[in-house]
Amino acid sequence: MPELVFFSGTMDCGKSTLALQIAHNRDARGLQGVIFTRDDRAGAGKLSSRLGLVTEAVEAPEGMDLYAYLVAQLSKGGKADYVIVDEAQFLAPEQIDQLARIVDDLGLDVYAFGITTDFRTKLFPGSQRLIELADRIEQLQVEALCWCGARATHNARTVGGHMVVEGEQVVIGDVNTAPEVVGYEVLCRRHHRRRMTSASAQAGALSPDVLPVGQG
Ligand SMILES: [Zn+2]
Repeated sequence: MPELVFFSGTMDCGKSTLALQIAHNRDARGLQGVIFTRDDRAGAGKLSSRLGLVTEAVEAPEGMDLYAYLVAQLSKGGKADYVIVDEAQFLAPEQIDQLARIVDDLGLDVYAFGITTDFRTKLFPGSQRLIELADRIEQLQVEALCWCGARATHNARTVGGHMVVEGEQVVIGDVNTAPEVVGYEVLCRRHHRRRMTSASAQAGALSPDVLPVGQG
């Protein structure tokens, strides 16, 4: 039975790498996939991983009907055996419904990769819809780590190294960006709740008077 599978994890946990690996394994068996992505770090129409691999993809902007795209491709004689969607959290809920329709009406497996929650720990609408509709949800096993060494479960947005909790839900940035611009850092829940990034932890260690006494 074809399935809609949601592979979820934090930023920096290897989602895009796994997406590329799944595509590679199927291509090696002669299967052909359609890869959708949105706002990839390598630019429009790319699926890239932090490990340096890049492949061509179809940019899925707001308002694009993903089901209609597949139907058009197939009726033009194109081949599609499976569908991969990276950065699926950025899709609109109705686009997730279109993915379910691709599974049910076209009989294709759809593998969607995304972050579940935003920098304020709230579900992205696209991820919420995936949780509601997916046949299966897989939590990625390659886990990112917080600066303290604990398993990182939350995405923090930073400006100048400091965690911010106000702002638009979607601001494109990345981990390891220049610190004065908007960046992201994965943290454990404890340090997300305390708004303690690696930069602020370091600053705290250097000036004992600002150590959060009694919160150890
Ligand atoms: Zn931590």
